Amino acid sequence: MYIVMLGKPGSGKGTVGNLLSKKLKIPHISSGELFRSYVKKAGNIGKEIDEYISKGNLVPDNLAIKLVEKRLLEQDCEKGVILDGFPRTKSQAIELDDFLKKRNKKVDIAIELDLSDKDIIDRIVKRMVCTNKDCREVYNSEFKPPKQEGICDICGSKLEKREDDDVETVRKRLQSYYETSAELTDYYKSQQLLYAVKLNLHSGKTSEDVAKEVEEYLKEK
Ligand code: ADP
Ligand code: ZN
Repeated sequence: MYIVMLGKPGSGKGTVGNLLSKKLKIPHISSGELFRSYVKKAGNIGKEIDEYISKGNLVPDNLAIKLVEKRLLEQDCEKGVILDGFPRTKSQAIELDDFLKKRNKKVDIAIELDLSDKDIIDRIVKRMVCTNKDCREVYNSEFKPPKQEGICDICGSKLEKREDDDVETVRKRLQSYYETSAELTDYYKSQQLLYAVKLNLHSGKTSEDVAKEVEEYLKEK
């Protein structure tokens, strides 16, 4: 099963993607996390990537595609993946389709999480992420605080704030999102692959609820 997660930065793609990954037993690949892992390694590619990410700009398509495809060729991806943050542009989507087609595979569903900009900003500035790369649990000081401040409930590792999670960079990331998202959702809609979920921070609907809903939908499909 090849699943694409769409939606604004901070819409909960990562959390829902992680839950689905556990339910469906396929890896969850976040392009943002993949790129940040290069930045942490501080090689030449990492330096180049950092130039874009730190300003809230998109990594150029050719580089993004190259690195994601490299990851998709790893063995754990054979039965499918949950892609989160990739594709971000229509040309990335077309490239992904070509890549999968060559391997007799295809995107099965594109899940879009839809949240207002205000909710997004509220959520992101309060976001903390587990530093353990095998865990990456996401917390929120208001909506989902850890039991012990700064410590992950699940694995006990330290939590960190992402460097690009400040209001100004989030606004820029939302702007980048608007520049490329319409053509991307249209692309999947026209193939009848789009499954949109409308969300509201105060509705009480949790990421777990969304993951369950998607899982049910996939069973019926
Ligand atoms: P968010 O969705 O919360 O903005 P991500 O972790 O998905 O954060 O991405 C962080 C940054 O990594 C983005 O702002 C962008 O610079 C870069 N990035 C991630 N995925 C892509 C992609 N598919 N194409 C280009 N740039 C990307
Ligand atoms: Zn953790």
